[in-house]
Amino acid sequence: MAQGPSLFETAVQQFERAADVIKLTPYVREILRHPKNEVVVNFPVLLDNGQYKVFTGYRIQHNNVLGPFKGGIRYHPAVNTDEVRALAAWMTFKTALSGLPLGGAKGGVAVDPKAFSENEVTRITRRFTAALGSNIGPEHDIPAPDVGTNARTMVLMMDTYMNSQATATKQASWGVVTGKSLTCGGSEGREKATGQGVQITLENIAKDQKIELSSCTFSMQGFGNVGSWGSVLIAERGAKLLAVQDHTGSIRNVKGIDANALMEYAKKTGGIKGYPEADSCTAEEFWKTKVDVLVPGAFENQITEKNVDWIDAKIIAEGANGPITAAADKVLNERGVTIIPDVLCNAGGVIVSYFEWIQNKRSEHWDLDEVDERLKKLLTRACASVKKESKRLKCDLRTAAYAVGLQRIEAAYVERGIFP
Ligand code: GLU
Repeated sequence: MAQGPSLFETAVQQFERAADVIKLTPYVREILRHPKNEVVVNFPVLLDNGQYKVFTGYRIQHNNVLGPFKGGIRYHPAVNTDEVRALAAWMTFKTALSGLPLGGAKGGVAVDPKAFSENEVTRITRRFTAALGSNIGPEHDIPAPDVGTNARTMVLMMDTYMNSQATATKQASWGVVTGKSLTCGGSEGREKATGQGVQITLENIAKDQKIELSSCTFSMQGFGNVGSWGSVLIAERGAKLLAVQDHTGSIRNVKGIDANALMEYAKKTGGIKGYPEADSCTAEEFWKTKVDVLVPGAFENQITEKNVDWIDAKIIAEGANGPITAAADKVLNERGVTIIPDVLCNAGGVIVSYFEWIQNKRSEHWDLDEVDERLKKLLTRACASVKKESKRLKCDLRTAAYAVGLQRIEAAYVERGIFP
């Protein structure tokens, strides 16, 4: 969905703001300005009508100084090099901030998965995985779900990758992707993990603003994996969901929307439009709804100079990656709105991905309580580091989050040096 300024430029500007504040070692800054590897594949797929169509797929590996490249695979018609580059860079800072031994990457295919049959999407996934070949691997680069992909996509990627391995190493391939189904090596709690991370980080940061989830109101943009689970889990804490927007429309109910019922409805109908227990409203009305917390949980570049003045919220929790443009971010900061940055707010997904990867490596299965507990521990620690840096450096939470990640990356580079 990149429009106007380059999304990768935005990502670079964000990290450079923190780099200035912490006086980052110049060569580390120079390295992070560029993705390490960029793979673009054009691959043919047999359609149901007997014809072939060539699709373009990407895998961009931004950095791996802290561990294997890690990040999702997106299926969306707007997927392009600039967008994938930005998303890959954000993964580097996200994993570093969370203290994971992982780097950052992102991939995708420029395709609208809803415009193709299930069999066609299966063939797209398998052929894309084959085209990526050894550019991914359990000790090298580990994809996961993102917009337009899910556990089924991941199982297909794993199966395709595994079948391309020599017999003796096949069983070492389970961890080539994360976000798999429970029957095929997935982790308990992975599906809800990103939404759960939004809830945990929101609760943590909101407390400092004297806002309790038990008595606050919120609105949600996006009702896919992040938006629906985020809504359910935030509402579970007692918060009242007032408005929701997704690709099918916007709805509102001042008395509150039952997130669980809406999730069921959206699963059945493919979106929130027509949900009988709320009124349909315009996009403008959605953004103008007065709430304590607004959660953009869909795409990048959703809060722009155009709608930023409509927003009446005390906290914005970035469930999506890059939902606020640089210009809108400035306006919101000046207005004193607390923004929980994406690299912290939506890190729950990659954290549980990391747990899945460990479980695969050790042939273990952790129960849900263990996953939940470990997730909470890592996110609480990340929140504490961000708040501490924000105080120490007298900067906003986004800059502080980058500062935490950057210092970890910098320490590794300085100690390891640059080969040769
Ligand atoms: N796509 C998710 C993200 O943007 C998850 C990545 C992962 O689990 O590797 O963080």
